[in-house]
Amino acid sequence: MDYTCPECGGPLFYEISTKMYVCKKCGLYLTKQQLIELSDKKKARPRLDAKKEYLNWWLNEKKS
Ligand SMILES: [Zn+2]
Repeated sequence: MDYTCPECGGPLFYEISTKMYVCKKCGLYLTKQQLIELSDKKKARPRLDAKKEYLNWWLNEKKS
């Protein structure tokens, strides 16, 4: 199944080694679960909210 980047709309590629989806356009890394949750939030909330939440989330993920 194909996914598009929630950040820039570019195509996401699945990396088998990390089991994560990677956007080749903006460098975004997302697990499948994050991708699903993010797209759910995007539908339910205004764009700016979703982006801010996602950025915090992403930064926290990268630190750990
Ligand atoms: Zn992207």
